[in-house]
Amino acid sequence: MAYPGAAACIAARPYGKNHLRPRNISRGVASAAGARTYPSHHFSPEQTAAQSSTRREAIRNAKPFSAFLTDTFQRRHDYLRISITEKCNLRCLYCMPEEGVPQSPSPDLLTTPEIFLLSSTFVSQGVTKIRLTGGEPTVRRDMLPLMHQIGTLRSKGLRELCLTTNGISLHRKLDSMVEAGLTGVNLSLDTLDPWQFQVMTRRKGFDMVMKSIDRILEMNKLGAGIKLKINCVVMRGMNDQEILPFVELGREQDLEVRFIEYMPFDGNKWSEGKMLPFQDMLDTIRAKFPTLRKVQDHKNDTSKTYEVPGFVGRMGFITSMTHNFCGTCNRLRITSDGNLKVCLFDNDEVSLRDILRKASNGKPIDETTLEALKAIEISHQQGILASSNPLGTTEYERELLDVIELAVKGKKEKHAGIGELENMKNRPMILIGG
Ligand code: SAM
Ligand code: SF4
Repeated sequence: MAYPGAAACIAARPYGKNHLRPRNISRGVASAAGARTYPSHHFSPEQTAAQSSTRREAIRNAKPFSAFLTDTFQRRHDYLRISITEKCNLRCLYCMPEEGVPQSPSPDLLTTPEIFLLSSTFVSQGVTKIRLTGGEPTVRRDMLPLMHQIGTLRSKGLRELCLTTNGISLHRKLDSMVEAGLTGVNLSLDTLDPWQFQVMTRRKGFDMVMKSIDRILEMNKLGAGIKLKINCVVMRGMNDQEILPFVELGREQDLEVRFIEYMPFDGNKWSEGKMLPFQDMLDTIRAKFPTLRKVQDHKNDTSKTYEVPGFVGRMGFITSMTHNFCGTCNRLRITSDGNLKVCLFDNDEVSLRDILRKASNGKPIDETTLEALKAIEISHQQGILASSNPLGTTEYERELLDVIELAVKGKKEKHAGIGELENMKNRPMILIGG
């Protein structure tokens, strides 16, 4: 579905301009007195134009970060990860049980208009980064139109639109994704050996993944500005011999390899013995590259970044098992069936989908319903309809924000430790979205 302004947005975006527009200032905020404003989606071109003309003034009046997305430890959640499918074309040992996972019935899954509405609500509250993940996001049939729609939120304050993918079919879709505003790709690759790839993913496809990496690097040479990170889950006795070849990838290529400690999820047969701790990885790398040095991390980075002097690329370590990074966590997650999850390792979830669907009598919101909602929203703004109209968006949005706030305020200071995580019930990783 084409949204007003989408074409202009795309046309106006030269490669390399990743941090695109000033943040929208009409987002709801907490005033000093604690009063809140609730956003409404702005759909018409006139409204969009009016918004941009007041942007400068609004920046001047910018208020504190949204209370809805601030937890009781004063962490501001400006990064949203959305899982857009439960399906995957690989079966990685550490993620997906061999037999797969039971899939949700399709009416339970978020539709594209619903994902857009939720994205829009979160951006209106100050989310500046959205990552699409899964399952494997590129297998979703309407992935590209979805990305293009979310890309239009750049005019509302979205600065980064990222993807986590296994890279199998990415190369075919990259051009369109960059047009949509793609700014970063985290690509999962756990081995540089095609045979071992088949062992670890239980599928073929190594060459396709390499093709995707090459294509990103090629597009970056032309100025596409896609931040590329290679995610490598390290399993003892499986791919730990490949740490150094992965480090070598950064010698001449502008990419970051991120070594991830193997984490336990339902059905992935985790054991502490199979997990290689960060410190062991670091020791291995330092033995070969004694000049390895720490790089200053950004405030909300979940990885510890290092570099070898003289190398173009860098490396990072995601140490969820041995050192948590909860203190600076700025992430929220939405599962493909529309649940908000405030912490990867917290089993508590709340359905945002069900609240959204109140506006359509519990039915999935398709394009037609969305058009009707938009018409009603505009009528509301013009004072034509009473606010008690059953399809009125104001009510559901208020409830949505209240529920989001309640969940965010319930976020714990830090997640459970290694001993507890092992025995904790949690969805399989594929149903959470990395
Ligand atoms: N299919 C996409 C991919 O593989 O990149 C996106 C979804 S995947 C669940 C997201 C990330 O989670 C991947 O980088 C994957 O390596 C990581 N992951 C999955 N299971 C994991 C585990 N048990 N421990 C650590 N990382 C894991
Ligand atoms: Fe699929 Fe990604 Fe999980 Fe591998 S890590 S099985 S590619 S969802």
